[in-house]
Amino acid sequence: PSNEILLQVQGLKVAYGGIEAVKGVDLEVRAGELVTLIGSNGAGKTTTMKAVTGTLPFDGEIRYLGESIRGKGAWDLVHKGLVMVPEGRGVFARMTIVENLQMGAYTRKDKAGIKADIERMFGIFPRLRERKDQLAGTMSGGEQQMLAMARALMSQPKLLLLDEPSMGLSPIMVDKIFEVVRDVYALGVTILLVEQNASRALALADRGYVMDSGLITMSGPGQELLNDARVRAAYLGQ
Ligand code: ATP
Repeated sequence: PSNEILLQVQGLKVAYGGIEAVKGVDLEVRAGELVTLIGSNGAGKTTTMKAVTGTLPFDGEIRYLGESIRGKGAWDLVHKGLVMVPEGRGVFARMTIVENLQMGAYTRKDKAGIKADIERMFGIFPRLRERKDQLAGTMSGGEQQMLAMARALMSQPKLLLLDEPSMGLSPIMVDKIFEVVRDVYALGVTILLVEQNASRALALADRGYVMDSGLITMSGPGQELLNDARVRAAYLGQ
């Protein structure tokens, strides 16, 4: 991790109608870090991610690469390397694996580079190579999650936001997905990982934030949170 702050969130508030889902969140992600945001169902994690990607109105300040994202659309931010893999993955079901990967590169013009990157994705995700001409909608949940991550990587993100990549997957696929997150991080991609699987996420992360009822209640190095008695009692069932 360097000292460059890629993402800085200060006093973030987001409301749906009159109801505040995020009530004043501060967090930051530095270049080269893997940061996780954990918390139970409904804590406001997804809402925070949506605000960061420019898809929800908010109060407070969100800076990406030192600039406020206010008024910038999701499109602008993707062009600047801020890319989210949403919960539920959202692959293009009626397109093949290769076509999905090509869509991920829509911000790029370097045809040869795109082709080389598709090969690179097949190196990271061998399962996708085996199925490259299959329609994405016919793959398993875990395979679709891998495709969604590979598609996001095709845009050469500076900051990759992963919203609950392990959700709804079988234990074997959960293992696989966390391995892939670790591999992608090892490639040098900065990651903000939202997870309900607190133990797995904290075990991987440089730093973590714990979110509860719209607020950050604890933060610190991943290992420290993993060993914290309050975190263990509330989120690890121990
Ligand atoms: P989950 O893991 O279930 O996605 P989360 O921590 O990501 O949980 P959010 O999805 O951000 O939580 O939801 C935070 C709160 O905002 C919840 O109380 C939720 O019901 C509410 N909420 C989320 N989306 C909307 C919406 N579109 N309209 C109204 N309320 C919403």
